[in-house]
Amino acid sequence: MFNPENKFEAFENRLWLSSPTMHGDELEYMKEAYGTNWMSTVGKNLDELERLVCEKTGSKYAVALSSGTAALHLAVKLAGVKRGEKVFCTDMTFGATVNPVVYEGGVPVFTDTEYDTWNMSPDALERAFELYPDVKTVVLAHLYGTPAKIDELREICDKHGAVIVEDAAESFGATYKGRQTGTFGRYNCISFNGNKIITGSSGGMLLTDDEAAAQKARKWSTQSRENAPWYQHEELGYNYRMSNVIAGVARGQMPYLAEHIAKKKAIYERYKKGFADLPVRMNPYDKKNSEPNFWLSCMIIDKDAMCGQKRGDCDVEYFPEHGKSCPTEILETLAKYNAEGRPIWKPMHMQPIYGGNAFVPEGDAGADIFYRGLCLPSDIKMMPKQQERVIELVRACFE
Ligand SMILES: *Cc1c(COP(=O)(O)O)cnc(C)c1O
Repeated sequence: MFNPENKFEAFENRLWLSSPTMHGDELEYMKEAYGTNWMSTVGKNLDELERLVCEKTGSKYAVALSSGTAALHLAVKLAGVKRGEKVFCTDMTFGATVNPVVYEGGVPVFTDTEYDTWNMSPDALERAFELYPDVKTVVLAHLYGTPAKIDELREICDKHGAVIVEDAAESFGATYKGRQTGTFGRYNCISFNGNKIITGSSGGMLLTDDEAAAQKARKWSTQSRENAPWYQHEELGYNYRMSNVIAGVARGQMPYLAEHIAKKKAIYERYKKGFADLPVRMNPYDKKNSEPNFWLSCMIIDKDAMCGQKRGDCDVEYFPEHGKSCPTEILETLAKYNAEGRPIWKPMHMQPIYGGNAFVPEGDAGADIFYRGLCLPSDIKMMPKQQERVIELVRACFE
């Protein structure tokens, strides 16, 4: 229970969950676009960004788009998802992972989460294929920058001839067995949204090793113009291409990806140490096989250290108790002291919009992690001293 006797001071400047951090190179590339009038959807920043991302990830092709969501939409389209067709999707994730399936008329079937990495459970996926053996596409996200159990999931997909669409929006730079996330599916996505590990202010990318697919995505993203003297259209088009100005920002951030990851990891380790004697755990990962990008530091409260917490559709209340706490109490305390936390992504099967969709549970781990977990301030501009105060605030909630 938070003890008001403790004399804490609010942070003078808000401590963010994760906000853009610029270094200077970004401005130079933006200026270059401006100075040469390459201010639209063609230019050197775009070419260079695509090259740099291919070089970093090992993906053969990269198509720069207006957002990660646009990249996922084109990925789902490339996977050939048809109207009314079921698609297995990560359940505990941001809505943007699954909405593109619906843009194409597909029907998400949500597969539950496992506790080891907080990602799609291989057991749930196996059972999903028993229930719906005809499913051909699986949309797999790596939550908070932590790679999923890729080998297990891929083996199941291969056995059933299903294509993986990988949502690596949060995990750019994270590796699994030494290989970058965003290269394990046939069609993959990363994001340069403002709060991700690096940013273009917005933007995203489709990654694939399939040359024809990359060409198609490029064409679709620029209104599907055929090679003709006039605007000739044979396919549906989209205005999804990234701007050369945005590409300049993302290009300028690329050299700092490793530095951002190192800082995020240090934040994670500091929390871990600071909470060592509290009844909580940090968001887990497979230390043997994976190296996350530590995009967000999260914690989960032990079951017997949870005070009462009641969540409605859009409201919440909790019942303070000595020696116990809950995500709501911690988030409200952080907010009171001008620090930003966030609940865990509310699982898609619990969202009213997807109330009619099928869900393959696995002990309801997703709902449980959502109930007991939260995201902590993880901004890389947070100073160690400030983080120590965040840790003290969280500790005070358990007094
Ligand atoms: C941010 C995010 C997206 C979407 O990326 P945008 O660039 O914001 O469209 C998709 N999936 C996940 C898991 C994300 O966190």
